[in-house]
Amino acid sequence: MPGFETLCAHAGEDPRRHCGAVTPPIYQSSLFTSPDCEAFAARHERWPEVYDYTRVANPTTDVLEAKLAALEQAEACRVFGSGMAAVSAAILHCVRAGDHVVAVDSVYGPTRALLTGYLKGLGIETTWVRGEDPEEFARAARKGTRLFYLESPSSVVMRLQDLEAVAEVARERGVATVVDNSWASPYYQNPLALGIDLVVHSATKYLGGHSDIVAGAVMGSAERIQQIASREGVLLGAVLDPFASWLMIRGVRTLALRMERHQQSGLAVARFLEQHPKVARVHYAGLESHPQRALAVRQMRGSSGLLSLELKDGTREAAFRFVDSLRWFAIGVSWGGYESLALPVGFVPEGKIPGRAPFVFPGITPPAQEVRWGVRLHVGLETVDDLLEDLSQALDQIP
Ligand SMILES: *Cc1c(COP(=O)(O)O)cnc(C)c1O
Repeated sequence: MPGFETLCAHAGEDPRRHCGAVTPPIYQSSLFTSPDCEAFAARHERWPEVYDYTRVANPTTDVLEAKLAALEQAEACRVFGSGMAAVSAAILHCVRAGDHVVAVDSVYGPTRALLTGYLKGLGIETTWVRGEDPEEFARAARKGTRLFYLESPSSVVMRLQDLEAVAEVARERGVATVVDNSWASPYYQNPLALGIDLVVHSATKYLGGHSDIVAGAVMGSAERIQQIASREGVLLGAVLDPFASWLMIRGVRTLALRMERHQQSGLAVARFLEQHPKVARVHYAGLESHPQRALAVRQMRGSSGLLSLELKDGTREAAFRFVDSLRWFAIGVSWGGYESLALPVGFVPEGKIPGRAPFVFPGITPPAQEVRWGVRLHVGLETVDDLLEDLSQALDQIP
């Protein structure tokens, strides 16, 4: 098996198919014509030599899907027009009306809204768990449970699930497992190798890496991906545009290099913040002090550039002032690109309402009264000393 960087460079590519072009062409075409009617009638048997419609398959997108499958150690991959399209396709592949899902309570906000605000209306119930103990999944499972939905490390609070152990609990019960692997990227974590059934990515984040596309990906067995492609892919139709596929191929070529730097700078920032007197707590799976450090080291090869911190002065004013004082960290949603970003975030105290999300973003999630404010940071590819200096001067601005 070639190394990860070699796969980033060459997996899925065959220049002989494209006049020797070292960079695959962008097949910016909605349809593909046939030379005669017999060829049209036989087009599906002859794929991937013959294409018919870009909602079904496209040669540029095929290169990308083969590359991403190789990186995630998967048999197959299907890309989508956004991370949420990938998340919803993976979930809908696993459940029908009357089914039950067990999901981690600190998942990405819109994933939670999909399960509670949308799929509940279609007769699909979700039970929320913290997810640090595999037994939580065993206890929450019941007759009709079809899916354990995971995100490790999870959004903002960075809780891990033991992927191998949860996959085992699922297998014993005939339950499917899906994990959102956007944070670690395939460079630092490969859940399929740990027994997970499907991996989803917001490819908008590290896979794209340049904040110029919105995209998603699902990886898994050839059988599952074939079903997802022909049902959720073709019928719900959230395909990735060929130009966006091409941009992601370009982005992925430097994935390993970018992840190394995100880790190096992310760790430097996390360590700086952890010892700062105005910071109460840093949430970062790469820190030695992370409560699940042993598990992090066991199932991940490294950590990325996304972290969050709680301020000692946990007021909204302090968090807003801190973020407004930053020079190199722009105020914005998303993450995973070359640029550093910051957002105020509220941490919800534990144990008040079981199953409630443990964090809120101002103006995105409804305000909760009793939150302790802090900041979510994405550490980009800028010179790390500039970022540390910036954080230091911004912390000087708050009580
Ligand atoms: C951003 C994000 C998503 C959604 O991806 P989009 O590309 O924005 O649709 C899903 N999961 C996680 C963890 C994310 O951060």
